[in-house]
Amino acid sequence: MHIPLVDLRIQYENLHSEIDRAMQDVISNSAFIGGPPVSQFEESFAAYLGTTHAVGVGNGTDALYLALKAAGIGPGDEVLLPAMTFIATSEAVSLTGAHPVFADIRNDDYCIDLEDAESKITPSTKAIIPVHLYGQPADMSAVMALAKQYGLTVIEDTAQAHAAKFGDQTAGTIGDLGCFSFYPGKNLGAYGDGGAVVTGDAELAMKVRRLANHGRSAKYDHSMEGVNSRLDGLQAAVLSVKLRYLDAWSAARYDNALEYSKRLTGMSEVTTPRVLKGRTHVFHLYALRVQRRDELLAHLREHGVGAGIHYPIPCPLLEAYSDKGYRSEDFPVASQVAGELLSLPMFPELTIDQIEYIVAQVGEFYGYPA
Ligand SMILES: *Cc1c(COP(=O)(O)O)cnc(C)c1O
Repeated sequence: MHIPLVDLRIQYENLHSEIDRAMQDVISNSAFIGGPPVSQFEESFAAYLGTTHAVGVGNGTDALYLALKAAGIGPGDEVLLPAMTFIATSEAVSLTGAHPVFADIRNDDYCIDLEDAESKITPSTKAIIPVHLYGQPADMSAVMALAKQYGLTVIEDTAQAHAAKFGDQTAGTIGDLGCFSFYPGKNLGAYGDGGAVVTGDAELAMKVRRLANHGRSAKYDHSMEGVNSRLDGLQAAVLSVKLRYLDAWSAARYDNALEYSKRLTGMSEVTTPRVLKGRTHVFHLYALRVQRRDELLAHLREHGVGAGIHYPIPCPLLEAYSDKGYRSEDFPVASQVAGELLSLPMFPELTIDQIEYIVAQVGEFYGYPA
């Protein structure tokens, strides 16, 4: 049996007539950049999340960059973020000229450790980026309390957590700005790059929109310099079709996670993901903590299971930041977890047969009888 980490083919097979028609409409109307396909998607995405503004942008990294810029973050400022994330989060901070300040993560949800973050606050700290890692929201009530106490802007990295909930609020709509990626493998994925910034603040939304479109206020009137980072019409059309299925896909991911966890809990070498109280996890990734991780990964791959590691190296310990002199002792939890995490295949269409096969391979590796 061969099971990829993510299978995007089945989803397209199920939706191809709707998607093909939507893309054909964009092409027939030459609505390639902006126009009705983009504004329709922006409106439905904002409404779906329960906020007022969504601005389509080129990708998730740009969404973070544009959100930071709109919030006035720039040279000399410091921005808090977790040590366990994709490099895009810190890249976006550096792109503005500000300094990324990494905090360790928690042992339970692998999201930012707010005690460590608080200890790193200085007069230059202007913002915090909680990353809703793997699809589980960070503790947003604690993030908001910290932000209020120190006057920080909150920018949620929601690239892995479309439709996840913290209490009754949707991830991405709790802070000042929420940033989404529509990279094809994300829970809501386009057929190329795409992203969005969402906010309940009309002024911030307008700033993001301007910055993403060359600082343009009217056709050839530029109030400032910006960048070119727009969501294109074809991607917006695909996303509008797919948004209608997102609830069903999130539920299917959740069910798959339960099926995995049910079958894996008997194995003492394996720690299944925890869903904390009051949070809805949308399982962008199903990440286990395991003993002898690299050997298990090799075993699974030999047997056709497309497992992965997210992420093998904590962000501050990447070579890109070697000049900063960070040590693994600075991020003890992230450093330990990075050696133990293993992501099993996760996508809505995963079957029980596939889950049973994958679990059987894990069991075989640790010597459990089939
Ligand atoms: C995917 C991802 C991004 C970047 O999104 P792109 O669309 O690939 O630029 C940012 N942060 C996290 C946590 C991600 O997983």
